[in-house]
Amino acid sequence: MCYAIPGKVISIDSKTVTMDYFGEARKAIFVTGSYEVGDYVYAQGGIVVSKLSEEDAIPILKMWEKQFFELKARDAILSEQSKFESPISPIIKRAEKDETLSRNEMLAILSVEGKDLELLFQGANRIRKNKLDNACCVHGILEFSNYCQNNCLYCGIRSGNANIKRYRMNETQILEAVDHSVSLGFKALVLQSGEDPFYSDEMLIALVKKIREKHGILLFMSIGERSKDCYKKLFDAGAYGALLRFETSNDLLYEKMRPGRKRIDRINLIRDLIEIGFIVATGFLIGLPGQSKDDLINDILLTKSLKPDMYSFGPLIPHPETPLSSIQTPSLDDALKAIALTRLVDPESKILVTSALETLSPDAKKKGLMAGGNSLMINTTPKAYSTSYDLYPGKSTERPITETIKNTIELLYSLGRAPTDLGVTNDR
Ligand code: SAH
Ligand code: SF4
Repeated sequence: MCYAIPGKVISIDSKTVTMDYFGEARKAIFVTGSYEVGDYVYAQGGIVVSKLSEEDAIPILKMWEKQFFELKARDAILSEQSKFESPISPIIKRAEKDETLSRNEMLAILSVEGKDLELLFQGANRIRKNKLDNACCVHGILEFSNYCQNNCLYCGIRSGNANIKRYRMNETQILEAVDHSVSLGFKALVLQSGEDPFYSDEMLIALVKKIREKHGILLFMSIGERSKDCYKKLFDAGAYGALLRFETSNDLLYEKMRPGRKRIDRINLIRDLIEIGFIVATGFLIGLPGQSKDDLINDILLTKSLKPDMYSFGPLIPHPETPLSSIQTPSLDDALKAIALTRLVDPESKILVTSALETLSPDAKKKGLMAGGNSLMINTTPKAYSTSYDLYPGKSTERPITETIKNTIELLYSLGRAPTDLGVTNDR
């Protein structure tokens, strides 16, 4: 099994390779290494992560060739337009033509109910297919420490929660868990933790170097706020991705939810990460207490203005050991509407269907993928720790990871999606 299809390099300029995938050209940038026309490479998130020999590439391509076109055909059938029209049809049509939606139109989308919902999700799915085709990247996520110096009101591993078993994985344990994730086929892996100063900048940089010496994978850091200098060194060590949400575009709400922290610092850091060259995933929480539809629209527009490589947003799932234990969980439809609206507002974006959304219903993952989503994460944290990485209820399962991978791949195939990340079609 494999989460990337090798591309054959057909042209190169100073920083970019153009690759062929069964007749389709895609681009990816390279940060290190040298490439020649005719080389076979793996790209993740628009970055070349490794080179492979022709001998290794040919059998993988053979395995994919038939499936590549079958999946596209299935996706095309499932994305077909429904016949019925509704008051939101003109809005969807405008988004399909890349027109900028007004705020009122966005509000109308977030207010859709009843049978118009299906039309909205279909429209968003069709835009996803027409703009980005059927690739759906599947990243692994490895949670290496649940210690956190912060006390975010929504989060189960906040420093104020005395009722969880804390853990930290040491370097050897992390490296072993990374080896295992890579052996399962992951080509992109997120290293996540609470904001844990136990790991010095130097420790993290050494860890990234060790991982990248061994593995041609796209490594994302999701470790909260560190200095720009630290992130630059992590990038230079070979971690080209960063996952850092701004959580909310509303200053007052942010300061309430993240005591002692300022939203502007987080935003400035996200901008710094983009400037450094990171592939950035960012976004917000849906369902913060007091968050209005207008806030949510601002959240989507702020994410868009940051021009991230991926949107990462999802429902806030109240955790019993937090001050937000009794707030209402957003409905699945509300969370799906946010995905669909994002697809309408930023048609070419990558939108993650988050694990938090998956907890809302057994078919939430499928619904997220059919409402405009085109990216997934699978938790690869060793079971001994994953139950303690308790950001929100329902997050960890007893299911073996191999079973989760199998189920996810089956779901993707049934929806005509290729569990792979090709290069990108534009220079976004
Ligand atoms: N400490 C790092 C990374 C771990 S937290 C950081 O904060 O960036 C990763 C994400 O989990 C946060 O960005 C937050 O949006 C999400 N999260 C925390 N508590 C949650 C909850 N109760 N429900 C849903 N998502 C939650
Ligand atoms: Fe810590 Fe991140 Fe949770 Fe905030 S959201 S308490 S920073 S782990």
